[in-house]
Amino acid sequence: MRGFRRLWWFVVVGLMVLAASTSAARAQEKLPQAFPSVSYKFGEQIRFTVRFKPAKGVKAVSVLYRPAHSAELLSGEMTWNADKGEAIFVHDLRLRHLPPFSRIFYWFRVKTQDGRSYSTASFSFVLEDNRFVWEKMSAPPFEAFWYRGGVEVAQAALNAAYDGLMRAQKIWLAPTPKQVSIYIYANNADLRSALGTEPWVAAHASPEFGSLFVSVGRNGGEKDEIRRLVPHELAHYLLYQQTGIGYRSLPAWLNEGLASVNELSPLPDYSVALKRAVAKKRLIPIEDLCRGFPKEAGVALLAYAESASFTDYLSRRYGRTAMHNLVDVYAQGVDCRTGVQRVFGASLGDLESDWQADALGISHWRKVLSNLSPWLLLVLVLLLPLAVGAVAAMKT
Ligand SMILES: [Zn+2]
Repeated sequence: MRGFRRLWWFVVVGLMVLAASTSAARAQEKLPQAFPSVSYKFGEQIRFTVRFKPAKGVKAVSVLYRPAHSAELLSGEMTWNADKGEAIFVHDLRLRHLPPFSRIFYWFRVKTQDGRSYSTASFSFVLEDNRFVWEKMSAPPFEAFWYRGGVEVAQAALNAAYDGLMRAQKIWLAPTPKQVSIYIYANNADLRSALGTEPWVAAHASPEFGSLFVSVGRNGGEKDEIRRLVPHELAHYLLYQQTGIGYRSLPAWLNEGLASVNELSPLPDYSVALKRAVAKKRLIPIEDLCRGFPKEAGVALLAYAESASFTDYLSRRYGRTAMHNLVDVYAQGVDCRTGVQRVFGASLGDLESDWQADALGISHWRKVLSNLSPWLLLVLVLLLPLAVGAVAAMKT
């Protein structure tokens, strides 16, 4: 009897599970299927379209989208055309810029006539800068893309990337990347409109975009520009590979310093800016370059020059393993003063004085005297009457 009852329960529970699964399957069946498509003109707009089959049950549709490596989720209410069974949304790229060559993930949120809501599967596309027709050349792990000039532009970039990687590994044991895409724009205006950055920046995209962007095309200086910019941007990329989310915690002087030291043909302007600042006693304290760089072009150049010189000094003095550790320690979020203290066992101020003595010829004593000179003068002024008085007293 007990055996029969147990069997009976099995049958009841089994039937309930079967009923639940078939009703779920029926509900699933009824959900309209999404057939998406995307078209875009880079710099202008992205048009998301989705067709539903069957379209009868659909009441409203919105699109949700996000570039890879971005925390911000964007969304838009779509225009629903019930007759066509189609929804459309246009994203205006002039109002909200999205990074070039980034993969955009998108999906749809659907409201049905019977009051249910559901999300479709996720889809994706790469937002290419289709204002230009790009050519491609590979030399793993690097691939170069360009739209103006011959293959020598790409060759120069691929060579500069390889030499830059070797140099970065020599300076701070940078990691070997799996794959790096380098986009070479023909001029600064094209690059700037692609990235939406400050006018004086020749090549600066967040390495979080996952690609390198450079602009060349200054008259006659193309090769030099490539050998300067590609290793510089590659260094930022490698630092990001090493640190991930900790990249944002790196002091600006170290991040830009390692990138600038990695340049294979550095700007002569750096040493000119340094000499002038030393002569005019206008060096920027390294501590002021921890959080960011000044925006004004002339001062920014000095900030780059100082960061490069200071970083070069540290790497010559302590070597590549210590520099690698310094990057790791800062990526953990320790502050600017603590990082150097922990890795080198010296204060930022002492290291700065040592660097100035070594690289800029500013001696400790000269610096101390020049800082003290107003006080020495005051002491002399105060002591002079006393001395005169003493001499007069001795005479009498
Ligand atoms: Zn940089």
